[in-house]
Amino acid sequence: MLQTIQNAIIELAKSKQNLAVNIHLTGKCDMQCIGCYARFGEDVKSKPFSITQSDWVQVIDNIYKYTSGLNVKINFVGGEPLLYPYLPHLLEHTKNRGFTTSIVTNGSLLKRRFTELNGLVDWVGISIDSFQENTLRKLGRVTKNKTLNYHEIVPLIHDLNSKLKVNTVISQHNWQEEMTHELMSMKIDRWKVFQFLPVVGENDSAVSALSINEDQFLYFYQQHASLKPVIENNDEMRGSYLMISPEGRVFDNAKGYYSYGASLLEGNNKFDIGGDGFSTIKFLKRGGSYDWKTNAQIGAMK
Ligand code: SF4
Repeated sequence: MLQTIQNAIIELAKSKQNLAVNIHLTGKCDMQCIGCYARFGEDVKSKPFSITQSDWVQVIDNIYKYTSGLNVKINFVGGEPLLYPYLPHLLEHTKNRGFTTSIVTNGSLLKRRFTELNGLVDWVGISIDSFQENTLRKLGRVTKNKTLNYHEIVPLIHDLNSKLKVNTVISQHNWQEEMTHELMSMKIDRWKVFQFLPVVGENDSAVSALSINEDQFLYFYQQHASLKPVIENNDEMRGSYLMISPEGRVFDNAKGYYSYGASLLEGNNKFDIGGDGFSTIKFLKRGGSYDWKTNAQIGAMK
């Protein structure tokens, strides 16, 4: 059942569940993944960032105001969040507000920005869809015409003393890939495996080339079950994420496309989605509420 964000927050607080809020700082990215659903029409060079650093501080302060009583993780995502120059300042402000901090990155800029991040990020998520050069190129996971060596990047995350999350999107190009051996050597705290998600208006041109069916998704899961991945199929991904757009607006994907609601830049508005909604049941079912320190799943809502 879809509901307003405010009702979801009340329900989660009553049941002592945690909440993750995903802030899409920018749609800019230095990669060109063909299935990307988070570019928001932004080009890495041509447009300025949508809102200012002080606007983002206000967004974070409004989230703080509207989520009192909840243990919240703020997850800075993109596009590529490490392209945002003031990310360390926002992470610091987020920590000062008592939130758990997290980023999800493609990994290309981690080395360059390593010292700025030290001590500020509780969780670093890195997107690893394949360990094979050909597959990474087919997916568009390339920057400056090079693919990344994830075995060089992941140790940086351990050196930050951040918990390590790996995100893997399963599509036609990698559903038969065997990743167990490579991933086992990385000391991962949480591995999330997603079925490639078509989002109308965002990645339409890649849908026929990347979509897989439930059986293919299940096959990948079964081949990797020993690593106990947290898996999400298309239905589980829809209406179960609380997301903020690069303009500071709440948005959702409940109906398979982005639906935009209230801006968190306005002082007295409610933290509400205004679009199609959010489902706490789906959020909990996909394992969205877990202990940010120990990674233990929090029990189902009563
Ligand atoms: S790295 Fe992530 S944000 Fe960048 S193009 Fe690829 S999927 Fe999109």
